[in-house]
Amino acid sequence: MTVEKPRVLIVEDEPTLAEGLMEALTFQGYECEIAADGLVGEERARKGEFDLLILDVMLPERSGFEVIKQLRKEGNKIPTIMLTAKGADEDKVRGLKMGADDYVTKPFGLPELMARVGAQLRRARMARGDGETFEIDGMHFDLGRLQAKREAETINLTPREGEILRHLRSREGNVVTRDEFLLDVWGYPTANVETRTVDNTLAALRKKVERDPARPAIIVTVRGKGYRWGG
Ligand code: CA
Repeated sequence: MTVEKPRVLIVEDEPTLAEGLMEALTFQGYECEIAADGLVGEERARKGEFDLLILDVMLPERSGFEVIKQLRKEGNKIPTIMLTAKGADEDKVRGLKMGADDYVTKPFGLPELMARVGAQLRRARMARGDGETFEIDGMHFDLGRLQAKREAETINLTPREGEILRHLRSREGNVVTRDEFLLDVWGYPTANVETRTVDNTLAALRKKVERDPARPAIIVTVRGKGYRWGG
Protein backbone atom coordinates (compact mmCIF):
# COMPACT_ATOMS: atom_id res chain seq x y z
CA MET A 1 0.00 0.00 0.00
CA THR A 2 1.46 3.35 -0.96
CA VAL A 3 1.53 6.06 1.63
CA GLU A 4 0.48 9.42 0.39
CA LYS A 5 0.33 12.60 2.36
CA PRO A 6 -3.18 14.04 2.50
CA ARG A 7 -3.37 17.11 0.28
CA VAL A 8 -5.02 20.25 1.58
CA LEU A 9 -6.08 23.27 -0.47
CA ILE A 10 -6.17 26.50 1.54
CA VAL A 11 -8.30 29.22 -0.03
CA GLU A 12 -7.56 32.32 2.00
CA ASP A 13 -6.69 35.83 0.86
CA GLU A 14 -4.95 36.98 4.01
CA PRO A 15 -1.31 36.00 3.39
CA THR A 16 -0.26 35.78 7.05
CA LEU A 17 -3.11 33.46 7.93
CA ALA A 18 -2.75 31.37 4.78
CA GLU A 19 0.98 30.91 5.31
CA GLY A 20 0.54 30.18 9.01
CA LEU A 21 -1.98 27.47 8.16
CA MET A 22 0.27 26.05 5.49
CA GLU A 23 3.22 25.92 7.85
CA ALA A 24 1.23 24.22 10.61
CA LEU A 25 -0.35 21.68 8.26
CA THR A 26 2.93 20.91 6.55
CA PHE A 27 4.52 20.33 9.94
CA GLN A 28 1.78 17.80 10.70
CA GLY A 29 2.54 15.90 7.51
CA TYR A 30 0.02 17.37 5.09
CA GLU A 31 0.85 18.66 1.67
CA CYS A 32 -0.63 22.11 1.06
CA GLU A 33 -1.32 24.66 -1.60
CA ILE A 34 -2.66 28.16 -1.19
CA ALA A 35 -5.15 29.91 -3.46
CA ALA A 36 -5.56 33.60 -2.69
CA ASP A 37 -8.94 34.19 -4.30
CA GLY A 38 -12.22 32.37 -4.76
CA LEU A 39 -11.93 31.90 -8.50
CA VAL A 40 -8.49 30.29 -8.41
CA GLY A 41 -9.55 28.24 -5.38
CA GLU A 42 -12.60 26.91 -7.18
CA GLU A 43 -10.57 25.98 -10.26
CA ARG A 44 -7.95 24.16 -8.22
CA ALA A 45 -10.52 22.32 -6.13
CA ARG A 46 -12.31 21.26 -9.30
CA LYS A 47 -9.25 19.37 -10.53
CA GLY A 48 -9.78 16.82 -7.78
CA GLU A 49 -6.18 16.72 -6.60
CA PHE A 50 -6.97 17.53 -2.99
CA ASP A 51 -8.31 15.57 -0.03
CA LEU A 52 -9.54 18.57 1.90
CA LEU A 53 -10.55 22.17 1.31
CA ILE A 54 -10.12 24.96 3.85
CA LEU A 55 -12.25 27.76 2.52
CA ASP A 56 -12.50 31.34 3.75
CA VAL A 57 -15.88 33.09 3.34
CA MET A 58 -14.76 36.60 2.42
CA LEU A 59 -12.60 36.26 -0.66
CA PRO A 60 -11.78 38.37 -3.71
CA GLU A 61 -13.41 37.39 -7.04
CA ARG A 62 -15.81 34.83 -5.59
CA SER A 63 -16.98 34.28 -2.03
CA GLY A 64 -16.43 31.02 -0.19
CA PHE A 65 -20.20 30.47 -0.28
CA GLU A 66 -20.27 30.75 -4.05
CA VAL A 67 -17.29 28.44 -4.37
CA ILE A 68 -18.74 25.63 -2.25
CA LYS A 69 -22.18 26.03 -3.81
CA GLN A 70 -20.74 25.69 -7.30
CA LEU A 71 -18.50 22.72 -6.42
CA ARG A 72 -21.38 20.82 -4.83
CA LYS A 73 -23.60 21.64 -7.81
CA GLU A 74 -20.98 19.92 -9.99
CA GLY A 75 -21.03 16.87 -7.73
CA ASN A 76 -17.64 17.64 -6.15
CA LYS A 77 -17.67 16.13 -2.66
CA ILE A 78 -14.32 17.35 -1.35
CA PRO A 79 -14.47 17.58 2.48
CA THR A 80 -14.67 21.31 3.22
CA ILE A 81 -14.09 23.36 6.35
CA MET A 82 -15.19 26.98 6.11
CA LEU A 83 -13.46 29.79 7.96
CA THR A 84 -16.20 32.09 9.21
CA ALA A 85 -15.83 35.50 10.81
CA LYS A 86 -16.42 36.03 14.50
CA GLY A 87 -19.94 37.22 15.25
CA ALA A 88 -21.26 36.16 11.85
CA ASP A 89 -23.33 33.26 13.17
CA GLU A 90 -25.60 33.20 10.15
CA ASP A 91 -22.51 32.43 8.02
CA LYS A 92 -22.05 29.08 9.77
CA VAL A 93 -25.56 27.97 8.91
CA ARG A 94 -25.28 29.35 5.41
CA GLY A 95 -21.98 27.56 4.81
CA LEU A 96 -23.37 24.23 5.96
CA LYS A 97 -26.50 24.73 3.85
CA MET A 98 -24.34 25.38 0.81
CA GLY A 99 -22.63 22.05 1.40
CA ALA A 100 -19.65 22.72 3.66
CA ASP A 101 -18.91 19.87 6.10
CA ASP A 102 -17.72 21.96 9.02
CA TYR A 103 -16.65 25.46 9.98
CA VAL A 104 -14.16 27.13 12.27
CA THR A 105 -14.71 30.66 13.52
CA LYS A 106 -11.92 33.22 13.22
CA PRO A 107 -9.84 33.79 15.22
CA PHE A 108 -9.26 30.10 15.91
CA GLY A 109 -6.46 28.20 17.57
CA LEU A 110 -4.43 25.90 15.39
CA PRO A 111 -5.11 22.86 17.61
CA GLU A 112 -8.84 23.30 17.02
CA LEU A 113 -8.41 23.53 13.28
CA MET A 114 -6.04 20.55 13.23
CA ALA A 115 -8.57 18.43 15.09
CA ARG A 116 -11.28 19.41 12.59
CA VAL A 117 -9.00 18.65 9.67
CA GLY A 118 -8.18 15.23 11.12
CA ALA A 119 -11.86 14.50 11.72
CA GLN A 120 -12.89 15.41 8.17
CA LEU A 121 -10.17 13.29 6.59
CA ARG A 122 -11.12 10.36 8.81
CA ARG A 123 -14.74 10.71 7.85
CA ALA A 124 -13.83 10.76 4.18
CA ARG A 125 -11.66 7.66 4.56
CA MET A 126 -14.47 5.82 6.29
CA ALA A 127 -16.98 6.90 3.65
CA ARG A 128 -14.66 5.51 0.98
CA GLY A 129 -14.36 2.31 2.96
CA ASP A 130 -10.59 2.32 2.65
CA GLY A 131 -9.02 -0.83 4.02
CA GLU A 132 -12.24 -2.05 5.56
CA THR A 133 -11.64 -5.78 5.28
CA PHE A 134 -8.39 -7.71 5.23
CA GLU A 135 -6.91 -10.93 6.49
CA ILE A 136 -3.74 -11.50 8.46
CA ASP A 137 -2.51 -14.95 9.21
CA GLY A 138 -5.94 -16.53 9.47
CA MET A 139 -7.51 -13.58 11.28
CA HIS A 140 -10.19 -11.82 9.24
CA PHE A 141 -10.69 -8.14 10.04
CA ASP A 142 -13.83 -6.22 9.14
CA LEU A 143 -13.30 -2.66 10.28
CA GLY A 144 -16.68 -1.53 8.98
CA ARG A 145 -18.29 -3.96 11.41
CA LEU A 146 -15.56 -3.49 14.00
CA GLN A 147 -14.88 -7.20 14.19
CA ALA A 148 -11.98 -9.59 13.94
CA LYS A 149 -12.70 -13.28 13.36
CA ARG A 150 -10.61 -16.39 13.59
CA GLU A 151 -12.38 -19.68 13.05
CA ALA A 152 -15.35 -19.67 15.43
CA GLU A 153 -14.05 -16.83 17.55
CA THR A 154 -15.29 -13.27 17.05
CA ILE A 155 -13.51 -10.35 18.66
CA ASN A 156 -15.34 -7.04 18.91
CA LEU A 157 -13.32 -3.89 18.39
CA THR A 158 -14.06 -0.39 19.61
CA PRO A 159 -14.31 2.39 16.99
CA ARG A 160 -10.97 3.72 18.20
CA GLU A 161 -9.31 0.33 17.86
CA GLY A 162 -10.68 0.07 14.34
CA GLU A 163 -9.27 3.48 13.54
CA ILE A 164 -5.87 2.51 14.99
CA LEU A 165 -5.69 -0.58 12.79
CA ARG A 166 -6.80 1.38 9.74
CA HIS A 167 -4.24 4.07 10.42
CA LEU A 168 -1.34 1.69 11.03
CA ARG A 169 -2.18 -0.26 7.94
CA SER A 170 -2.36 2.86 5.76
CA ARG A 171 1.13 3.74 6.96
CA GLU A 172 2.52 0.28 6.27
CA GLY A 173 6.31 0.25 6.32
CA ASN A 174 6.48 3.41 8.44
CA VAL A 175 6.67 3.99 12.15
CA VAL A 176 3.62 5.80 13.51
CA THR A 177 4.58 7.95 16.50
CA ARG A 178 2.42 8.45 19.57
CA ASP A 179 1.94 12.10 18.66
CA GLU A 180 0.72 11.09 15.24
CA PHE A 181 -1.76 8.67 16.78
CA LEU A 182 -3.06 11.36 19.10
CA LEU A 183 -3.64 13.73 16.24
CA ASP A 184 -4.94 11.35 13.59
CA VAL A 185 -6.84 8.82 15.67
CA TRP A 186 -7.81 10.68 18.81
CA GLY A 187 -8.21 13.95 16.93
CA TYR A 188 -6.29 15.81 19.59
CA PRO A 189 -3.42 18.12 18.91
CA THR A 190 -0.14 16.87 20.28
CA ALA A 191 0.70 17.30 23.94
CA ASN A 192 -2.87 17.76 25.15
CA VAL A 193 -3.13 14.14 26.13
CA GLU A 194 -0.51 11.93 27.67
CA THR A 195 1.15 9.65 25.18
CA ARG A 196 0.65 6.88 27.73
CA THR A 197 -2.99 6.87 26.63
CA VAL A 198 -1.78 5.68 23.23
CA ASP A 199 0.41 2.95 24.75
CA ASN A 200 -2.39 1.68 26.97
CA THR A 201 -4.90 1.55 24.13
CA LEU A 202 -2.43 -0.17 21.82
CA ALA A 203 -1.54 -2.69 24.51
CA ALA A 204 -5.21 -3.53 25.05
CA LEU A 205 -5.77 -3.89 21.32
CA ARG A 206 -2.76 -6.19 20.93
CA LYS A 207 -4.04 -8.35 23.73
CA LYS A 208 -7.31 -8.74 21.85
CA VAL A 209 -5.96 -9.53 18.40
CA GLU A 210 -2.61 -11.20 19.12
CA ARG A 211 -3.64 -14.07 21.33
CA ASP A 212 -1.26 -16.59 19.91
CA PRO A 213 2.38 -15.76 20.76
CA ALA A 214 3.56 -18.24 18.14
CA ARG A 215 2.15 -16.02 15.39
CA PRO A 216 3.91 -12.87 14.14
CA ALA A 217 2.82 -9.63 15.80
CA ILE A 218 0.14 -7.60 14.03
CA ILE A 219 1.31 -4.43 15.72
CA VAL A 220 5.04 -4.05 16.27
CA THR A 221 6.45 -1.77 18.97
CA VAL A 222 9.40 0.26 17.75
CA ARG A 223 11.31 1.18 20.86
CA GLY A 224 11.53 4.88 21.59
CA LYS A 225 9.68 5.72 18.38
CA GLY A 226 6.18 4.34 18.16
CA TYR A 227 4.43 1.52 16.35
CA ARG A 228 4.53 -0.17 13.01
CA TRP A 229 2.12 -2.38 11.10
CA GLY A 230 3.36 -5.95 11.37
CA GLY A 231 0.60 -7.70 9.42
CA1 CA B 1 -10.82 36.78 3.73
